[in-house]
Amino acid sequence: MTATARFIGSGDSFGSGGRFQTCILIDAGGTRFTMDFGASSLIALRQQDIDPNSIDAILLTHLHGDHCAGVPFLLMDAMLGARRRRPLTVAGPRDLRHRMFLIAEALFPGMHVMQPKFELTWIELEHGAPTPVGDLLVTARPVKHTWQTNPTALRVEVGGKVVCYTGDGEFGEEMALAAKGADLLVAECYFHKKPVPWHLNYPELSAHKADFDAERIILTHMSPEMLAHVDDVPEECAYDGMVVEF
Ligand SMILES: [Zn+2]
Ligand SMILES: [Zn+2]
Repeated sequence: MTATARFIGSGDSFGSGGRFQTCILIDAGGTRFTMDFGASSLIALRQQDIDPNSIDAILLTHLHGDHCAGVPFLLMDAMLGARRRRPLTVAGPRDLRHRMFLIAEALFPGMHVMQPKFELTWIELEHGAPTPVGDLLVTARPVKHTWQTNPTALRVEVGGKVVCYTGDGEFGEEMALAAKGADLLVAECYFHKKPVPWHLNYPELSAHKADFDAERIILTHMSPEMLAHVDDVPEECAYDGMVVEF
């Protein structure tokens, strides 16, 4: 069975290239989920005519705003605007629930008094332990990125497919394990030449392709310097609205 990935947002946290922040929408095995949900992701969904109420689960790699800060906006819309009834699961790194509470209260003070009229489930993913999230089997592995964000790479098994997203982070063994043999690897590729710590850059990414051993790689989360080189690399590079089957 084929699965589909749509890049709702392929940008970084600085709006580089006029791109929306990270959000990858996957349809596989009868489940619709996103990997990350940045501050601008609800706007991006609307722009691409995707109904936010059609999403079953949101998986978060880490707690930087360009990867997770859209969740309070989505929840506010679900409770007030879109009148959601479909259950929603939000799964992510350690301390997810407490940290999202703080983020939501910072963005929408007083929001905690609102009660969703749909089933809302929070799941904190233990490192290296495949965890059921509805029909998905999700494994979070720690990556080298700003430690305060509890950074992980995510591996998702669903409908006979494996999709991995590196999140933000330097190359490491755990990242390679998350990607091993994936049908689709979505990899951060922040810089083309300049080595920047705490991020996956093109030199490391190309040097470690064999370690990832993925069927297909798509690069995303690119700086202006990398965006200037998308035509110079053999790998596929994401853009907002890009849809691929895998
Ligand atoms: Zn980021
Ligand atoms: Zn980050």
